[in-house]
Amino acid sequence: MALIVHKYGGTSVGSVERIKNVAKRVAKWHRAGHKLVVVPSAMSGETNRLLCLAKDIKADPDPRELDMIASTGEQVSVGLLAIALHAEGFEAVSYAGWQVPIKTDSAFTKARISEIDGSRVLKDLDEGKVVVITGFQGVDSEGHIATLGRGGSDTSAVAIAAALKADECFIYTDVDGVYTTDPRVVEEARRLDRVTFEEMLEMASLGSKVLQIRSVEFAGKYKVKTRVLSSLTDPLMPLETEMYSGTLVTFEEDENMEKAVISGIAFQRDEARIAVMGVPDKPGVAYQILGPVADANIDIDMIIQNQSVNGKTDFTFTVGRGDYHRALEILNNTVKGHVQAETVLGDPKVSKVSVVGVGMRSHVGIASTMFRTLSEEGINIQMISTSEIKISVLIDEKYTELAVRALHKAFELDCAASM
Ligand code: ADP
Ligand code: ASP
Ligand code: MG
Repeated sequence: MALIVHKYGGTSVGSVERIKNVAKRVAKWHRAGHKLVVVPSAMSGETNRLLCLAKDIKADPDPRELDMIASTGEQVSVGLLAIALHAEGFEAVSYAGWQVPIKTDSAFTKARISEIDGSRVLKDLDEGKVVVITGFQGVDSEGHIATLGRGGSDTSAVAIAAALKADECFIYTDVDGVYTTDPRVVEEARRLDRVTFEEMLEMASLGSKVLQIRSVEFAGKYKVKTRVLSSLTDPLMPLETEMYSGTLVTFEEDENMEKAVISGIAFQRDEARIAVMGVPDKPGVAYQILGPVADANIDIDMIIQNQSVNGKTDFTFTVGRGDYHRALEILNNTVKGHVQAETVLGDPKVSKVSVVGVGMRSHVGIASTMFRTLSEEGINIQMISTSEIKISVLIDEKYTELAVRALHKAFELDCAASM
């Protein structure tokens, strides 16, 4: 008997019919003798709908109140799923994050889980119940509901699996695993049977929204066996087939891994670029420019500082598009006066395209293949950043799909082992 966590995303619980299917699938696992904790998202479109209601009243709603509203989507899902399990003849109980409790910090709308007390859940499991817990939410030390950022139910599920020392966490979604790139953009994208934890971490951080990055971080830190698979298959398919389907996130490279140099192409559309021009090149300016932006809880991504000419340099970085106007405002208030920069320029319509692969460590020529491919498509590279296992470029947003398709082809990702 194993302790298993299932997570179902928005599409997977997008209608009453789908929720009934989830209940059938969960019932099948339970009947096979496993202890089951199920973590659903809100029904598809629901979180957006709830956030829009708030934004229809005020353009910049208070984040605490936003979390109060957005968290209700998952609360509906857990209740419906518990009822669907009762209809299947099972004992099931639903909990909101605060009832577990799943403790978080107070960074409303992007809170981090600090601790999960699994005792209540473990007791229910011992009594033979299926436990259904809201994804995406927790509670801070003052008792306020806090949400974990968009896509946060993945993180809830993996964190719960870690806290309960579950044997495996199954992330059920609307695609049947992790692909070489988003299969909705490149038809030829290929499903990976396995992906290393490091590659998954890079892909998630570079925009592959199939897993929220923090869920991958949890999986790595607590060595949670995590598998991504489809919820849209027959819920009564044989358990032995289902448990080996999809994509397994592995922690070691083994000889069964495909010998691919590049395992995937990730992209992030909603990026914005900000350039602070004519900055006096002296110690401390980077901090003076980026410090106030970071203090406003704005994540800074790619950064370039140019060679200085006549004691002046240009400083360019990227932020998420949602933070663009706030970041510009902060810079206009601080850097022109204090830092004595000449001007602040920006482009809110850029995207980041990245090639990822652990095989890059031992292969040269990846960057040149990437740059040649983009140049053949006439795509200008605005910024470049690299790590041991990835190369990212910033480009005009309108070329995102063209770049992803061209790179997917150039690295032969539609074939079984690339290069
Ligand atoms: P859920 O609601 O189940 O959490 P998401 O929409 O958050 O689902 O994530 C699944 C989606 O991620 C897929 O529908 C797919 O379009 C997208 N995606 C992006 N990159 C990849 C990738 N490399 N492999 C698989 N899916 C990807
Ligand atoms: N419902 C939340 C969202 O739409 C969390 C999730 O789906 O993972 O972002
Ligand atoms: Mg998701």
